[in-house]
Amino acid sequence: MVFEYAPAPESAAIVDVRPSYGLFVGGEFVDGHGEPFKSVNPADETVLAEIARADEGDIDHGVAAARTAFEKVWGPMPGAERAKYLYRIARIVQERSRELAVLESIDNGKPIRESRDVDVPLVAAHFFYYAGWADKLGHAGFGPDPRPLGVAGQIIPWNFPLLMLAWKIAPALACGNTVVLKPAETTPLTALLFAEICQQADLPPGVVNIVTGAGDTGRALAEHPGVDKVAFTGSTEVGRQIARSAAGTAKRLTLELGGKAANIVFDDAALDQAVEGVVNGIFFNQGHVCCAGSRLLVQESVADELLERLRARMATLRVGDPLDKNTDVGAINSAAQLARIRELADAGEAEGAERWSPPCELPPQGFWFAPTVFTGVAQSHRIAREEIFGPVLSVLTFRTPEEAVTKANNTPYGLSAGIWSEKGSRVLWTAQRLRAGVVWANTFNKFDPASPFGGYKESGFGREGGRHGLEGYLDA
Ligand code: NAD
Repeated sequence: MVFEYAPAPESAAIVDVRPSYGLFVGGEFVDGHGEPFKSVNPADETVLAEIARADEGDIDHGVAAARTAFEKVWGPMPGAERAKYLYRIARIVQERSRELAVLESIDNGKPIRESRDVDVPLVAAHFFYYAGWADKLGHAGFGPDPRPLGVAGQIIPWNFPLLMLAWKIAPALACGNTVVLKPAETTPLTALLFAEICQQADLPPGVVNIVTGAGDTGRALAEHPGVDKVAFTGSTEVGRQIARSAAGTAKRLTLELGGKAANIVFDDAALDQAVEGVVNGIFFNQGHVCCAGSRLLVQESVADELLERLRARMATLRVGDPLDKNTDVGAINSAAQLARIRELADAGEAEGAERWSPPCELPPQGFWFAPTVFTGVAQSHRIAREEIFGPVLSVLTFRTPEEAVTKANNTPYGLSAGIWSEKGSRVLWTAQRLRAGVVWANTFNKFDPASPFGGYKESGFGREGGRHGLEGYLDA
């Protein structure tokens, strides 16, 4: 049974959303010269703020500010001094964590429980972690005196707006680079609050620059000749375009792209734990997760039992107000993303898979999609091959470990995978054969700043996090 909970909304009053925002360049907010755009709350479709759009001239300005800061201040600064700024930023993120969590949930649609307990603590942890590296770069295994690259152009998606910012900015700054970062057009607000945090931390002007806009702004940044390194997280399609534009230049490039991860449940797994992991793997953050466990591969002999428990567990998920502390599944980030999820789910039905969602009432306003599971999925179905980036799970079965590995690897992506088994030797045998950057065993979606993250094949190249994450920002 589902217990009725009284509403437990977090107050939105803690954040002061301004009616309009400029670009953050050279340590101050300035006007953009493109047509401004609006950021919308996906839970109720209200307009949150008007956001400046950077055109090519604004990107020139941002890159020039970053170059000056790199040459005059940040590049020559001793690592121990840079570390102090990173620590300061980490502490301010902690101090303002409630404000950041509420703003992230309002702008993105994710449940406050996740922004408060996962996103924002991980953001602070990333800055603390890379602060620790700033004065130890000579001991990181990249030579005795590795140098920064210069100006990094960084482009991030909308699913973890502040966390992706931290993954990009913390290692870049620790290594002595300066940055021009472009947040996604549907979720710019926490990056702009982060700009205020940079001011509060007295970060030298131009070390961090935030330019807002959509794809054109991103392209102008990625293609700018004054950028020494491009770091991109987003779709494989845009990643390809950026790789083409960087080819033949001296620019360094790291790409973190899409995924279609397999979550493999063997017959000896602890089934209730596996169900929790499967639910976390695909319904966390509405399934807007590049490493989501979107393909469940379950051993045939336990498939019926697992699916029964999975459906019972899904029936307890609470879908609704992102600011309610009891909410498990929030709003879909945008109308465009909702349309894409619907299109792929409809294709799943049309291709013959069986669709099921628990009974759940969706709010009348905003962008919503009920947690959904498809059974009877064939490897040829679009829902087994394409990234849905929504709360939709595709279930396939297997008989032998070899078949599980073959099916898991039968994807152009290779970002993550999960294995559920009580037998250590089986876990290791399987993990060794999976072509995925991260393999979780008896858990899923665990992140730690000390642990590298990144993909194989069309999921991209380069690693973020850990010591490996320094390599993309050093001229080693
Ligand atoms: P997207 O590629 O459309 O957009 C990502 C960012 O790139 C946005 O800021 C966007 O404005 C910008 N952009 C768009 N066109 C551009 C262009 N031509 N040149 C430069 N920049 C451009 O992706 P999205 O829909 O915002 O995000 C979802 C995708 O991101 C999914 O495929 C997901 O798997 C992937 N993702 C990957 C990771 C990872 O770490 N591997 C993490 C999060 C998301």
